[in-house]
Amino acid sequence: MSRQPSIWQTALAHLKIETPTQPVLYFSPATLQATARQFIDGFDGLVTYAVKANDSRTVLENLVAAGITAFDVASPAEMHALRAVSPDVAMHYNNPVRSRDEIAQAVALGVQSYSIDAPHEFDKLRAQVAPEGVEVAVRLRLPVAGAAYDFGAKFGADADQAVVLLRMVKEAGFTPSMTFHPGTQCAAPSAWSTYITTCAEVAKAANVRLARLNVGGGFAANRGVAPDLTAIFDAIHNSAEAAFGENAPALVCEPGRAMVAESFTLATRVKSIREDGAVFLNDGIYGALSEAPSIGVPDRMTTVTSDGASHDGGMSRRMVFGPTCDSIDQLPDPLLLPSDLAEDDYVLFAGMGAYSLATVTRFNGYGLIETVTVQHADL
Ligand SMILES: *Cc1c(COP(=O)(O)O)cnc(C)c1O
Repeated sequence: MSRQPSIWQTALAHLKIETPTQPVLYFSPATLQATARQFIDGFDGLVTYAVKANDSRTVLENLVAAGITAFDVASPAEMHALRAVSPDVAMHYNNPVRSRDEIAQAVALGVQSYSIDAPHEFDKLRAQVAPEGVEVAVRLRLPVAGAAYDFGAKFGADADQAVVLLRMVKEAGFTPSMTFHPGTQCAAPSAWSTYITTCAEVAKAANVRLARLNVGGGFAANRGVAPDLTAIFDAIHNSAEAAFGENAPALVCEPGRAMVAESFTLATRVKSIREDGAVFLNDGIYGALSEAPSIGVPDRMTTVTSDGASHDGGMSRRMVFGPTCDSIDQLPDPLLLPSDLAEDDYVLFAGMGAYSLATVTRFNGYGLIETVTVQHADL
């Protein structure tokens, strides 16, 4: 009987020996902790993690181990997931629309920071939460460009409404703050600068000194081009200093995607190749590739044959389908794949930790995705 390591060196080492028939997500705790340190060292403020990007227990545990002390949560279930790994991390309940029942659960679980974007939501909060020591952040929305898709369509108050809300928060005795989200996979530093400048104008018009300014998530992950996080951190620091001067609030950020993406690699297997060259994989948009229709096909890939060798022929563009019988289960653009790709070969996608495991469905009997721990997430 052979004994296999519980932590594999790489995805390829595991694939060669185990030849999995189901999709596998390879998780590198070392990569996740290194990314957390990059944020903690580079960002001039409190680094929190947006749990929705990937709520697996091992991710939360590794972030706590790396020194992340506060988390952005959107639901009671996410709060329970966090409490299961730490009794004392801070939870920022930044889903601005909550039922009264959800508010009661948040109070019971010790939440002391909320965001709001409308008077009605503030009234609900105020009816159940005592203001002493509790932060309420007003969420601003602006029409800004630079992200893969816009978060302002669903949440946020316009600048004029934000002024009114900020005054209400202050008058009710809560700790007043502001927040925004520039949109996910945002690589443009100017998106943050524009928001920060407007937040300063709102605070000034409301005559409220902000305790904190939460600059959201949205930080881009590597999609073929590695984002320049340092340039974004500098833009945030510099525009906060320029816009607020001596009244500068403490800064908070809440990356989801950029924190967790790089620490997971997805391995899929070729189920079949059609005569026209189209490829059927054992995972698709109802599984870990759910983001492809909204933010585009993954672009860092490698392939191996079923016995672990590399392909060495030419490359060709092929349509890629997922395993379900639904016709929308296909990648929106063709992928460049080896011309000699064959049934049972593996196609690996790098940078797949965000909005993958968290959104997998079991539609049509698929979506059973194993997670295997590896030393290195690189292909
Ligand atoms: C989704 C979300 C985040 C994380 O966004 P990313 O683009 O994954 O970084 C942060 N804050 C809030 C309020 C969110 O809803």
